[in-house]
Amino acid sequence: MSRVYNFCSGPAALPEAVLEKAQSELLDWHGAGVSVMEMSHRSSEFKSILASAKARLSRLMNISDDYEILFAQGGASTLFAQIPANLTHGFNSACYLDTGAWSSKAIKEAKKYTNVVLAGSSKEQSYHTVPDFATLNLDDSAAYLHLCPNETIGGLEFADLPDTSLPIVADLSSTILSRQIDVSRYGMIYAGAQKNVGPAGVVICIVRKDLLARSSDTLPTVWNFATLAANDSMINTPPTFAIYLADLVFEWLEAQGGVAAIEQQNIAKANALYAAIDGSDFYANPIDPRYRSRMNVPFTLADESLEATFLEESKAAGLRTLEGHRSVGGMRASIYNAMPMEGVQALIGFMRDFEGRYG
Ligand code: PMP
Repeated sequence: MSRVYNFCSGPAALPEAVLEKAQSELLDWHGAGVSVMEMSHRSSEFKSILASAKARLSRLMNISDDYEILFAQGGASTLFAQIPANLTHGFNSACYLDTGAWSSKAIKEAKKYTNVVLAGSSKEQSYHTVPDFATLNLDDSAAYLHLCPNETIGGLEFADLPDTSLPIVADLSSTILSRQIDVSRYGMIYAGAQKNVGPAGVVICIVRKDLLARSSDTLPTVWNFATLAANDSMINTPPTFAIYLADLVFEWLEAQGGVAAIEQQNIAKANALYAAIDGSDFYANPIDPRYRSRMNVPFTLADESLEATFLEESKAAGLRTLEGHRSVGGMRASIYNAMPMEGVQALIGFMRDFEGRYG
């Protein structure tokens, strides 16, 4: 067996220790005689896994009792529709900040449910920066303000939040658990699992309890946040194996020292990679340095015609999935929690070597 360094934006690399533990428990989970995939979601065994995942996430993110943790299905893209469907009931509009491909997709879906007020957009700047929060166009009577603090495709990340009385709804799909955040500043957080949490198939939702009162009975039952909360995320069969893997990832993260400790590693990894890009005329990153993502690092080669060779040779060197998103081209290294510093160093070493030979 030879594992490579996997820079995929998602589904992304998982910690090896987690995969090994899942492997060791695959045929017989804790003496149950079956795997987690084969047990009833109503069994006491699975309920203990679900409770453990919730408890660990609460500890890791310091989530207060004012919030419900839900495990939703359908991917973060489903939440793009599910959120306005649930949270705009009784309101005429919702505000959206447009900072890239993912916030744009969220806007497109929200328009099917409500009047979208564009709070601000950096589209004119090719999404290379974040609109100045002091100039945002906010409707005080809107249902919420939606934003995407880490644009996975563009490689744009912001840590600050606008100063507003509106509940802030944030798509943290590609940044959850990578840095410390103050959950109490959000009305709702959601994140597809397949980057920093576990395999695809489950979406972590953290919803402030007072917002659950907005979910109308006319919603499809499996979409209704209040019903999901009342049924402990088990209106129907939840993605049990994905939740189990998420629990193992949370356990691993606790063993690393929690979010504060992993954040320091993430800063060190991102700093090293951006320094390598900035220190060469051969590579470039277009993002406003104040808003460069710690998780997704896009970069271009001075000579575009070398891209295919770069990808071929990096793959042969054990560095996998470095191609940028099809919409933007170039390269992209996603360096989530599970990517060790050694992987980033291996990439930097390859980049220098490649530049030496072709630059
Ligand atoms: N939001 C962000 C920030 C993402 O990165 C992604 C997926 N890459 C999505 C939403 C959509 O997630 P899914 O494919 O689970 O619907």
